[in-house]
Amino acid sequence: MKTKYGLPPKVQFCTRCTMSNQRPVPVGEMKYKVNAYKPTDAFNKEGLCAACQFSFVKDNKIDWDKREKELIELCNKYRSKSSSEYDCIVPGSGGKDSRFTSHILKEKYGMNPLTVTWAPHIYTDIGKKNHASWLDNVDNILITPSIETHRKLTNLAFKNLLHPFQPFVFGQRYAALKVAKRFNIGLVFHGESPFEYGSADPIKDSKKSGFDKKYFVSKNNLNEIYLGGVSVKELVKKHKIPLSDLFWYLPIFESDLKKFKLNYKFLGYYLKWNPQEVFYYAVDKTGFIPNPERTEGTYSKYASLDDRIDGFHYYTSFIKFGLGRATMDTAQEIRNGLLTRDEGIDLVKKYDGEFPNKYFQEILEYMRIDEKLFWRLINAARSPHLWSKIKGKWTLKHKVWE
Ligand SMILES: [Zn+2]
Repeated sequence: MKTKYGLPPKVQFCTRCTMSNQRPVPVGEMKYKVNAYKPTDAFNKEGLCAACQFSFVKDNKIDWDKREKELIELCNKYRSKSSSEYDCIVPGSGGKDSRFTSHILKEKYGMNPLTVTWAPHIYTDIGKKNHASWLDNVDNILITPSIETHRKLTNLAFKNLLHPFQPFVFGQRYAALKVAKRFNIGLVFHGESPFEYGSADPIKDSKKSGFDKKYFVSKNNLNEIYLGGVSVKELVKKHKIPLSDLFWYLPIFESDLKKFKLNYKFLGYYLKWNPQEVFYYAVDKTGFIPNPERTEGTYSKYASLDDRIDGFHYYTSFIKFGLGRATMDTAQEIRNGLLTRDEGIDLVKKYDGEFPNKYFQEILEYMRIDEKLFWRLINAARSPHLWSKIKGKWTLKHKVWE
């Protein structure tokens, strides 16, 4: 059967968690003309997904004392001789991960981090509070892109890719690195390893201490770079977005790195990362506040709370890949021993794909998309190997509980 987005036609669920083989790893995102994904599909012979294989390595094969020594050596190398200089950058929103990272680097490892925030589309109240309270103890640069440009890019990304979060993702990826370059700070710390959630080669990736250069450095010229599925050239010419407004969305170019060496590390490579422990640490030591209410689409209250568009990021992933927010959350919690697989499956059954109603009208207005077009785009994005229409109702063909 023909599938969209290059997804594998045969749907397989992990034998340990709730994840399926439909979770893609985006490749060469800057060339994102249309939905071009490379599926992870890195299930092993025992039927474990890539993230579960990574988690097994993390729990059994890594000498964490040795890894911490590596962290201390790295910090020693970068620690500023003069106490008034920053010696690393921690990008983040003031959520649990960035709070843990900045706090432990500062208090335990004696670093002087500068934190950098890429502003959400539209702050939630809780996101705004948490960003403000993070700054009780750290210095921060808040980068807020032109709202009109961000809105236009989000509109295009939704219409062309059903990926309303893409402009945010790009800014989040590059903005802190561009600040690092300006301030000549060669060390940037991301929190958890992105490979915790799957990759094309989990065993190899468990040995990676940071992002490959190809993740943030581009060899391409501007005409080969796409945002919201449109080339930069077209964005300027046809969509009247000034090139200067695209600064934060564009990658670092190879020429930028001639005189500047950038090390983009994950703290989760050096310290054994457990999202639940990170959450408790952030609450106890830094005053992080979880959401007072359950987040739509899942049962959890502590992850990805800052932006009113977040729910649509997860909802569109549910439409494109059959994987919603409750799948992501349960898969992680099963791996970390907080839920059994059966408990996880029940939560997926209950919450996955729940529509994010709370901010729906506001997000439609923000994207300048009417409700009719919204649903037309949503339904056109459903891959036939995942969805069928039964008695007028769209239903997933493969469910983790069946
Ligand atoms: Zn798994």
